[in-house]
Amino acid sequence: LDVIVGPDKLFYAFHPDLEPAVAIGQGDVVRLRTLDAGGGQLRSPDDSLEGIDWNQVNPATGPVYVQGTRPGDILRVDILDLTVGDGSVMMAIPGEGALGDLLTAQETLILPHDDQDILFRDRIRIPKRPMVGVIGVAPATGSVSTGIPGPHGGNMDCSLVTVGASLYFSVGVPGALMGAGDVHAAMGDGEVMICGAETAAEVVLRAQAVSLKGLPTPFLRTSHVLASIFSAPTLDEAADGAAHAMAEFLIRMVGIPVNDAVALMSLVGDLRICQVVDPLKTARFELPSWVPTQYGFTML
Ligand code: CA
Ligand code: CA
Repeated sequence: LDVIVGPDKLFYAFHPDLEPAVAIGQGDVVRLRTLDAGGGQLRSPDDSLEGIDWNQVNPATGPVYVQGTRPGDILRVDILDLTVGDGSVMMAIPGEGALGDLLTAQETLILPHDDQDILFRDRIRIPKRPMVGVIGVAPATGSVSTGIPGPHGGNMDCSLVTVGASLYFSVGVPGALMGAGDVHAAMGDGEVMICGAETAAEVVLRAQAVSLKGLPTPFLRTSHVLASIFSAPTLDEAADGAAHAMAEFLIRMVGIPVNDAVALMSLVGDLRICQVVDPLKTARFELPSWVPTQYGFTML
C-alpha cells in the first residue's frame, strides 16, 4: 500500500527544520493530496482576494522524509500519476502578472472540469494538461517561501513537470524533506496571468537517491528531453543560468568537448520560458535525450 499524505499536512516554506509529515524508504511511492494555490479559499466568483488568509496561500503537502538520503546526494523524484480535482480557479489581479497593466477589474474565475477538459466560460473546452507548479526539497540553510523557485526547486512552474517526468534535486538535509503543491490543470509557458488553472490534486511520486554527483540541479528528464531549470531575478539571467547548467552537464557529465557541446545545444536545444510572474523568473534548457544517449551516457 502506498503512503498517503493528506492536505492536513501543509507547509509554506522549504527549510531545514521542517517536521516530516511521513517517512518513506528508498524507491517507495507516496501519494500527496494537495490543495490549490489559494489554499481552497476561492470557491465561487464572489470570493475575492480581500477575503482570504494570505498565510494559507501556495501550500505544499509534506514534507516527505526519504530514509537513507543524505546532504550532497541527488534525489530523483518520478511523477507516476497526477489526478486533478473537479474544478479549478484563476484570478485576474490588476497590476499583477505580465499583463497586469491591461487588467482593471479583479475577478475570480471558476472553471469546472469534466473527465477530459476544462470548461471555460461555457464557451470553449480546454484539454487538461496537468502539471505540478511547486515541487522541491529543503535547502541546507535558510527558508524559502513556497511561492519562490530556486536551487532547491520550489515554485518553478515548469510545464514539463507532469506524469512521466523525473526531477533531480540536490539534497540539503537528511531525508531531503520533499514536498509538492500548486498543481495546475493547465498552464501555458510563462504563466502570464500569474496563475494556471489552480486545482486540488493527488500527486503520486517515487523518490530515491541516485549516483549523479555533479549534476546541475534542478534537472528534469521526460521520455523525450533532458532539461536544466534555473531561476533568477530577470529572465535574461534565468536563460543564461539554464543554458550554462546544460552546458556544464554535457561537458562534465557526458564528456562532450566544449565546442561540440555548445554547437549541439545551438543545433537541437531549445531554451524555453517556464514562468515570468514569480519573484524569481524561471527558464529551462531542453535537449533531446538522444544526444547524451548517442554519446553512451545513461541518465539514472
Ligand atoms: Ca506557481
Ligand atoms: Ca499556481
